[in-house]
Amino acid sequence: MENVHELGFLKAQVDALKTQGVFRTLPVLEGANEPEVTLSGKKVINLSSNNYLGFANHPKLKQAAIDAVNAYGVGSGAVRTIIGNMTLHEQLEEKLAVFKREEAVVVFQSGFNCNAGVIQAITGEEDLIVSDSLNHASIIDGVKLSKASKAVFQHSDMADLESVLKAKRHLHKQCLIITDGVFSMDGDLAKLPEIVALAERYNCMTYVDDAHGSGVLGENGRGTVDHFKLHGRVDFSIGTLSKAIGVVGGYVAGRQVMKDWLLHRGRPILFSTSLPPAAVGAIIAAIDELTSTTAYTEKLWENGNYFKAGLKALGYDIGHSETPITPVIIGDEAKTVAFSKALYDAGVFVSPIVFPTVPKGTGRVRCMVTAAHDKRHLDKAIAAFERVGRSMEII
Ligand SMILES: *Cc1c(COP(=O)(O)O)cnc(C)c1O
Repeated sequence: MENVHELGFLKAQVDALKTQGVFRTLPVLEGANEPEVTLSGKKVINLSSNNYLGFANHPKLKQAAIDAVNAYGVGSGAVRTIIGNMTLHEQLEEKLAVFKREEAVVVFQSGFNCNAGVIQAITGEEDLIVSDSLNHASIIDGVKLSKASKAVFQHSDMADLESVLKAKRHLHKQCLIITDGVFSMDGDLAKLPEIVALAERYNCMTYVDDAHGSGVLGENGRGTVDHFKLHGRVDFSIGTLSKAIGVVGGYVAGRQVMKDWLLHRGRPILFSTSLPPAAVGAIIAAIDELTSTTAYTEKLWENGNYFKAGLKALGYDIGHSETPITPVIIGDEAKTVAFSKALYDAGVFVSPIVFPTVPKGTGRVRCMVTAAHDKRHLDKAIAAFERVGRSMEII
């Protein structure tokens, strides 16, 4: 009989990935996240990070992290509800609440566990959660942890959202509509004004995960809610501190009563150690930097628009992104992986994104331009896309 400890059931699945041409090993970044990096021994232009503003290796953030370590040590020593709630964590939440123009903020250890913790804490058995079909995996997992009933509406389809609300809203006590602010794989924006209007008509709450909008959209990167001027009409605004902010962590912004409740029932707050001082110190410096100038967000958008125009002129299908996220849609999974590999050989790193991250047959490389890139990087990358695309007969 087969030895169960050899995990044959997993080997069969891994072998299937290999047959499908989608098996991968992890690329190794040899140094900091910069526009040009050494990746697995090769120098390449980095078009794959969420480091939108170039903050991940910013001197001011690094100094703030070092200062925080000197003052507070390397670990907080406990969950926040016991003794892991340092002055730094309090300062960060106050600063973020001002930045987001909301009453209160609760910071989590990541955007992922913010969704995992908040959704289940604010919904119950008698409630309904209505979620966009392309919402992020962490929302999907967060929804699974809730005891509420669940319904999905077709991506950004307001008629479908309304028909779900019409059919099901009256059967439930509370109803929570959840959407990404910016959809991470396509770069399109949620139709937030319409969603909020429907929510108001059907007496629902709204929950916007703005991981890719934080630091990117709105005044000084205040996010999608600010971009659409919907302050006060979105109940739960989730942001990440791991992308544009350049460090790690997540948060929810909203009412003080929401915060009061989450400090009692937000499971990652109660059962997982709080963010380390270095991270919190660096995040505080990032928010200060972001509010002191619009130079970072302006450069990001300028670079994004320049790069998109270059790829479009070459004839690539870049979808309908409304943000600096630039998908280059290839379709077939194996071809997408091969395209990414050929670009890497040509000196450009864009990671392939295939099923199950995106639907089958919509494989793509997703280009992430940052404020730290300059025109020379972008021109070099566009030239590589031209050479590789022609040789693979994609353009
Ligand atoms: C990246 C992302 C997250 C996870 O954020 P982390 O801070 O990296 O855990 C959550 N939601 C969305 C929409 C994201 O794009």
